[in-house]
Amino acid sequence: MERRNAWHEYTEQQLQEIDTLATKYRHFLDHGKTERECVDQIVAAAEAAGYRNMDSVIKEGITLKAGDKVYYVHMKKAVAMVNIGTEPIEKGMNILGAHIDSPRLDVKQNPFYVDSDLALLDTHYYGGIKKYQWVTMPLAIHGVVVKRDGTVINLAIGESPTDPVFCVTDLLPHLGQEQMEKKAAKVVEGEQLDLLIGSRPVKGELKDGVKAYVLQVLQEQYDFEEEDFLSAELEIVPAGATRELGFDRSMIIGYGQDDRVCAYTSLIAMLETDNVSRTTCTLLVDKEEIGSVGATGMQSRFFENFMAELLEAMGHSSPLAVRRTLSNSHMLSSDVSAGFDPLYASAFEKKNAAFLGRGVVFNKFTGSRGKSGSNDANAEYMARIRHLMDQNNISYQTAELGRVDLGGGGTIAYIMALYGMNVIDCGVAVLSMHSPWEVTSKADIYEAKRCYLAFLAAKGE
Ligand code: MN
Ligand code: MN
Repeated sequence: MERRNAWHEYTEQQLQEIDTLATKYRHFLDHGKTERECVDQIVAAAEAAGYRNMDSVIKEGITLKAGDKVYYVHMKKAVAMVNIGTEPIEKGMNILGAHIDSPRLDVKQNPFYVDSDLALLDTHYYGGIKKYQWVTMPLAIHGVVVKRDGTVINLAIGESPTDPVFCVTDLLPHLGQEQMEKKAAKVVEGEQLDLLIGSRPVKGELKDGVKAYVLQVLQEQYDFEEEDFLSAELEIVPAGATRELGFDRSMIIGYGQDDRVCAYTSLIAMLETDNVSRTTCTLLVDKEEIGSVGATGMQSRFFENFMAELLEAMGHSSPLAVRRTLSNSHMLSSDVSAGFDPLYASAFEKKNAAFLGRGVVFNKFTGSRGKSGSNDANAEYMARIRHLMDQNNISYQTAELGRVDLGGGGTIAYIMALYGMNVIDCGVAVLSMHSPWEVTSKADIYEAKRCYLAFLAAKGE
C-alpha cells in the first residue's frame, strides 16, 4: 500500500501557497535558532493576531469567554496558546504540540581558556548529535548572558555577513591515521568540541595577552566579563541562513528543523483558525531533545497550571474541570520523522518508512525495543484521523522511526497521554535529522499545515 507523492496533485495556486509558506518558514528558522528566539517570534505573531498574555488576564481579573484568545509564556522558553470555543471547554480541546529546542553545543559555565595562543570556549553538547558533524564549519553564538544585577544581554553573533563566526577544528588527514581507525562515536569526542574564538594578543602583553584581548572585546562590544559566563545560556549553532535545496527548489536545508518545522506550521495553523466551536490549543515547548525535563519541558506542570488558571478565569473553579478538559482533549503531538534515505536503505523497513514529498506523517507509536517509551495511539483515534485527512484531501503517510531494534526515539506524546487524552504522533519527514543542516520537503511542510488546520477545526464527538 504505497502513498502518492503529493507534488502530483498540486494546482498552480497551491504551488504558490507552498512557496509562500516555505519562505515564511525559512524566515522563522533564520530568526529562531534558540528556544528564546522562537518564543519571541511566536509571542509577536500571537499578539498581532489578538492573543492576550495570560499573566495580564490574571492580574487584571479578566473573565474569559468564547472567542477570547490567550497565550502563556513560561520562563521565556515555552508557550501555550488557547483560542476559546463556543462548546463547553470540559468537552475537551483540540491540541497541537511541538518542541522548539534543537540539538546544538552549549557553552559550559566556566568555559574560557587559552592554549598555545588560541582562545577557546569549552562546550557540552545538547541532545543527540553525531559529534564529527559539528567540526570545521562556521558556527554562531546565540543566547543570553545575565549579569549579577539581572541585566539580560541578548547575543546572536555570526549571522550578519559582517559578524565574525567561530568553529571547532579537526585534525588534518595527513596526521589523521590513528583518528581514522577509531569508531565514528570516538573520532571526535565530547571534550574536543571546543569553540575557537580568538588568537590575537593585546600588543606587548606577553603573558595572557590573547585572553586579555578576547575579554576586552567581550567587555567593549557585548558589555560582559568572564565571570558573567557563570549565568549565561549560550548556544552554539550553525552560522548562516536556510537555503532552498535542489535544482527544482523542492526542499529546504537549514538548522533546527527538528522540531521547528512542526512548531512553525502548528503556530500558523493556530493563528489562521478563528471562530472555533471546540477550544483550540497549541503548545510549543523546550527540552524535548533531553527528555522533556526541567521547568520548560513537557513534563513540567506549567501547562496544567496554565489550564487551571484559564478555567478559573472562565469561571470553572472546580479541580475536576481541569481534569475533564484535559482527558477529553485530542492532540496531535508533532515531531519530525526520519525520512527514508536511499543511501541508508537498510536502516528502514520500506513499507513503514516516511518518504519526502508524500505528506504529513503519522506514527501510531514511536519508542524502541518493543515500543518501549512510546505512546501507542488507539486504533479508534487513528481511524478518526484517517477520516479527517481523507475528508480534507490531505496527503498523509504512516511510519515508524526506522527498522525494528535498530534504535528509536521518543516525543512529548506519552506525557500528554498521561492525562488520559487521545494523542498521536505526527509530523514532517526529515533527512539528516539532528545534523547541523537538516533537509525537509516543501510539500510536506504544506501538508503538515493543512493537516493542523483541519485538526483544529474538527468537531468533538
Ligand atoms: Mn524532535
Ligand atoms: Mn530530535
